[in-house]
Amino acid sequence: MGSVDQKQFSVAIIGAGLAGLSLAIGLHRRGVTSHVYDAAPKFLDIGAGLSFAVNSLKALEAVDQECYELFKKRCEGMSLKKDVYMTFRDGMGDGEPVTTLYCKGSGQQAVHRTLLVKDMTKLMPENTLHMGKKLRDITKTPAGGYILDFEDDTTEEFDVVLGADGIKSRVRQILLGEDNPDSYPKFSGEFAYRDLVPMETACEVLGEEFARNGNVNMGLGGLTTSYPVEGGSMLNLVAARDAETWDHAEWVIPSDVAKIQEEFKGYGSKIQQLISLFKDPKAFALFHHPHTSTFYSGRLAIIGDAAHAATPHQGAGCGQAFEDALILCELLSDESVRAPEDVQRALAAYDAIRRPHTLRVVETSRENGAICMMKGPTTGEDWGKIKANLDKRFEWMWRVPPVADVPILHSSSTKLSLLTLVIGTTI
Ligand SMILES: Cc1cc2nc3c(=O)[nH]c(=O)nc-3n(C[C@H](O)[C@H](O)[C@H](O)COP(=O)(O)OP(=O)(O)OC[C@H]3O[C@@H](n4cnc5c(N)ncnc54)[C@H](O)[C@@H]3O)c2cc1C
Repeated sequence: MGSVDQKQFSVAIIGAGLAGLSLAIGLHRRGVTSHVYDAAPKFLDIGAGLSFAVNSLKALEAVDQECYELFKKRCEGMSLKKDVYMTFRDGMGDGEPVTTLYCKGSGQQAVHRTLLVKDMTKLMPENTLHMGKKLRDITKTPAGGYILDFEDDTTEEFDVVLGADGIKSRVRQILLGEDNPDSYPKFSGEFAYRDLVPMETACEVLGEEFARNGNVNMGLGGLTTSYPVEGGSMLNLVAARDAETWDHAEWVIPSDVAKIQEEFKGYGSKIQQLISLFKDPKAFALFHHPHTSTFYSGRLAIIGDAAHAATPHQGAGCGQAFEDALILCELLSDESVRAPEDVQRALAAYDAIRRPHTLRVVETSRENGAICMMKGPTTGEDWGKIKANLDKRFEWMWRVPPVADVPILHSSSTKLSLLTLVIGTTI
C-alpha cells in the first residue's frame, strides 16, 4: 500500500501526535504522500497544555502555512506582556521575581495539545489517517522495504517507515534493538502533577498579573509552572517534585489535592495558592531518552519523542518535533531523492543535523529541572547563580532557526550535496 505520486517510494508514519501529523502535512504540501497509523481508536482529551517559543512557531510555519494559522488561532490572546516568556520566582518565599526571560517574536505561547492535534487532522488528505492501528512489529523485505504488522492482525508494506510513536516507541525498539537499554525510556528522577483550571478562578486566587503570564516558582526539590492556554481562558498548572524512583506500572495516575499539599508543605505562599487551585490533578512520571546512538537505519527513522523525549523543563518537546518534521520534509521532498535507494542518504542527513541538537535539548532540560529545584551542581541554592544560569539557558535553543541553521535547505537541487559541506561529514 502507499501511493507513490512523484516519488518512487511509499512512506508510512507511525503515530499521529504533533510530530507525526506535522510531518505528514508538510510532506503532503511538498507532493509526497504518506499514510499515518495510530494505535488510539480516537483522540482522547488528556487535558494537557503545552508551551512553545519562537523556534516552534518558525518551524511550524515553514512546515505548513495553514497548519501554522490553525496553531496561531489557538494561541490568540495568550500573554498580557509582549515578548515575556516566563518569570522565574523564589518559590520558598512569596514568589519574588528572580529573573524574567524575554523571547522576541513569541513571548510565551501555549496550546491545548489534543485540540491542536484534532485541528491538524483536518489538514490530512482523505483516507491517509488510520486510527486503531497499533504497530506490533516490522519485518524487512529483501528489497529493503518494510512490512508493518499491526495488532489487529493486518499488514501493510512500505518503502520508508518513520516512527513518530512517542516516548514508548515500538519503532525505536525495533531500530535500536530490543536488548538495547537505550530502546526504553529512563525515569528522570521527577514527576509532575498537572491540571487545567478556569482563568477566572485563577485570577481570583493569584491575581490577574500572575495568572495571565507564565511563571515558574522554584523551590527545594520541587517547582511549579503555570501559564495561560486556550486563548487565555484556562490556566495550565504543573507542580513537579523530585523522586528516587517511580514505583507505579502506569505513568499517569489520578491524584488528589491533599497529596500535593503534603508534597509541598513548607514551600512559600505563592506555591500554596497555586496548589489550592488543583481540582482534578493527575500525577505524570517524567521519563526521557538521554542516549540515542542513531535516529535511522536503512529507510527506517524515528522523530519527535520517539527519538529524543525530554523532560518538560524547557518547554521544548513540540518545537523539536516540528523542527524534525521540517528537516525531514525538506530532505525527503528534495528532487534528488526520487527512488527508494535515495532515501537512506536523506535519513543520514536528518540524523546528522538533528541528533546532536536534540540530544543537547534533552540534557539541558534535565539540567534546568535540577537548577529550578535548587540542586544544580554549579548553582545550588544561590539565587544570583541561578539567575545568571537561567538568563543564558534558553536563548540558543530559540535562536537556532531550523532552516537558517542549514542554509542549504533553501536551495533544493543542491541540498544534499551541500549539506555534506555544512555538517562536515560524508553522507
Ligand atoms: C508532563 C509533560 C509536559 C510536557 N510539556 C511540554 C511543554 O510545555 N512544551 C512542549 O513543547 N512539550 C511538552 N511536552 C512534550 C510534548 O508533549 C511532546 O514532545 C510533543 O507532543 C511531541 O510528541 P510526539 O508527537 O513525538 O509523541 P506523542 O504526542 O506521544 O504521539 C505519539 C503517537 O503515537 C501513537 N502510538 C504510540 N505507540 C504506537 C504504536 N505502537 N502504533 C501506532 N501508534 C502508536 C500514540 O497513540 C500517539 O498518538 C510535555 C510532555 C510531558 C509528558
